[in-house]
Amino acid sequence: MKKQVESILEEIKDLNKNLVFKKKYKTLKIMEVCGTHTMAIAKHGIRQLIPASIDLISGPGCPVCVTPIREIDKIIEIIKKYDATVFTFGDMMRVPGTNSSLLAEKARGKKIKICYSPTDALDFAESNPDKKIIFLAIGFETTIPLTAVIVKRAFEKKLNNFFVYSTHKTLPQALNALLSDSCINIGGFLMPGHVSAITGSSMYEGIPQKYGIACVISGFEPENILLSIHAILRQITGNDFRVEIMYKSVVRPEGNPVAFSLIFDVFEPADSEWRGLGLILGSGLELKKKFEGFDAKKIFPVANPVSCEPPGCRCGDVIKGIIKPFDCKKFGKSCTPENPVGACMVSSEGTCAAYFKYMAGI
Ligand code: SF4
Repeated sequence: MKKQVESILEEIKDLNKNLVFKKKYKTLKIMEVCGTHTMAIAKHGIRQLIPASIDLISGPGCPVCVTPIREIDKIIEIIKKYDATVFTFGDMMRVPGTNSSLLAEKARGKKIKICYSPTDALDFAESNPDKKIIFLAIGFETTIPLTAVIVKRAFEKKLNNFFVYSTHKTLPQALNALLSDSCINIGGFLMPGHVSAITGSSMYEGIPQKYGIACVISGFEPENILLSIHAILRQITGNDFRVEIMYKSVVRPEGNPVAFSLIFDVFEPADSEWRGLGLILGSGLELKKKFEGFDAKKIFPVANPVSCEPPGCRCGDVIKGIIKPFDCKKFGKSCTPENPVGACMVSSEGTCAAYFKYMAGI
């Protein structure tokens, strides 16, 4: 394995030298758009292994990080206004809202429970018919089919005390939004492995040609990530921009049609706000009319809160890859995983958390 990694690294260095010599770029920005890649790259020290002229930047691949502060504020308003129990994943508990967090509200006695799977929320609703249960649904194409399954189950069982607050988002629209932003200047994408297993590579067709950008779907082992970086350099060398799968054991061009169609049985596209990226047309998912009786946003309406990010927190710029976590003045000082100021330091897939865990001493 060591030999294989060394030989990929040598090839990366050769290709890079050649490309810099030919003035194809001075610095090549490669963005990963999956929180698990962010963690793997930091953990295995891949930034330190490859030439300095290849800049690995992190994008909007962490679902907790891209959920805008307004959604946290709204769900807090709901639990203040209505007698309902909210189920959510652990990371969401600590994400700061404008004035509070779900964890702080739980400490104040509000009914908030951590779940490990969406079915925990559904099971609780079934066995507690006198209680109103809201599942705070978060995540990209990987987790959306699970939410779709529980909504269908709730529909079949005619539950009237189970609701979903959808913050689900779809990635391809976000990639287009990033590429349209002239401040970012991405030369290659390490495409997400898990999301692509559902969407398939065909979902990204059009991006490489439209933007002249290399797109490679990568696995998560260090040698696979290096092979994917190598593939990006090869595409640039040959001006042969396309979507390439380097995670063939899991990702197919057509994706997982069953899981994908399940998503659109239950949800329909809607415009969605992303932390850092703002409103992206068609990048969110809301429940279809058939399932509107389960839609927490309709059943528990609240006014749009006045939300603002924590002063000095630059999560928005981190998510767009404009700055590195080290560039935030709060990083490792007033903002740490024990005392996070922004979402990117909270989540186990957040860029600031990854840098703090694996690179703080570098
Ligand atoms: S280090 Fe903390 S305050 Fe700074 S951008 Fe990251 S999460 Fe926000």
